[in-house]
Amino acid sequence: MLQQTQVRTVIPYFQKFMEAFPTLQALAEARLDLVLEHWAGLGYYARARNLHRAAKILMAEYGGEIPADLEALLRLPGIGRSTAGAILSLGFDQPAPILDGNVKRLWSRLHGLKERLDTASAERRLWALSVHYLPRERNAEYTQALMDFGAKICTRTHPRCLECVLQDACLAHRSGWVAELPVARARQKPVKFSYWLLLRDEDGRIYLEQRPPVGIWAGLWAPPQWDSREALEAQCQNLGIRPETLTWLPAREHGFSHYLLYYTPALAQLVEPLPMLHDRPACWLKPKTSSQLALPAPVKRLLAELA
Ligand code: SF4
Repeated sequence: MLQQTQVRTVIPYFQKFMEAFPTLQALAEARLDLVLEHWAGLGYYARARNLHRAAKILMAEYGGEIPADLEALLRLPGIGRSTAGAILSLGFDQPAPILDGNVKRLWSRLHGLKERLDTASAERRLWALSVHYLPRERNAEYTQALMDFGAKICTRTHPRCLECVLQDACLAHRSGWVAELPVARARQKPVKFSYWLLLRDEDGRIYLEQRPPVGIWAGLWAPPQWDSREALEAQCQNLGIRPETLTWLPAREHGFSHYLLYYTPALAQLVEPLPMLHDRPACWLKPKTSSQLALPAPVKRLLAELA
């Protein structure tokens, strides 16, 4: 849950999730849509799907135990080298390195690395530092301290250098480069556009479809979407809805890890029932009851506006 997401955001989701799925077995036996429903609003839904698949594999192949073995952990969906390192060090006190965003920032400042961190060579150098600093004992405490240090002392903005025990060794601090490091990515995220059709029936219910099992928001529920306004309007004409009767709502944006989505909703008030639009599960939902379905956060916000 903490990948790409701050602790204070995660806490209420974590508590609710653990109440619903208190054991690996409970998670493995749960239906995916129920798991997604408990994840709704947290974003990056691949994490929920991976966690669910990993729980199934652990139950089927490891008797419900988490293996204390790097290769076995790396074979689980959603577990990369850093997460595997965190499991081995925090859970089994093994000398296993981690390299999350906080640790990358710390190494970059401590060693004054004036290069972008998203290159293969920087990645190799950073991993080498994570291995280099591994202690011989108390690995769980070391890893926890390292994560806390990045989150609380060597923070992205306003690091607490004057209280920092590493200030004499820190090249960025001694050289006055703290604000410049780590070097920011040069690239802007690419932008995608999407046009959402909000079909509202006479009872105020909105038409939602379950998204395909792969891709963005896989398995979640959302209004039908097109890449262009023209494509949305053409579909409306096929349905007997005149495009000039659509109410266009203000465009909004939503950030994914790898691109920015600009989406524009168009509201169509129906006077008679319509057939289903696509060959996939669909439903009519009262905006006030939106918590009953696994919805991406932007859809949830939009329905709250319409409630
Ligand atoms: S001195 Fe400042 S920049 Fe250097 S490690 Fe400490 S908090 Fe980070």
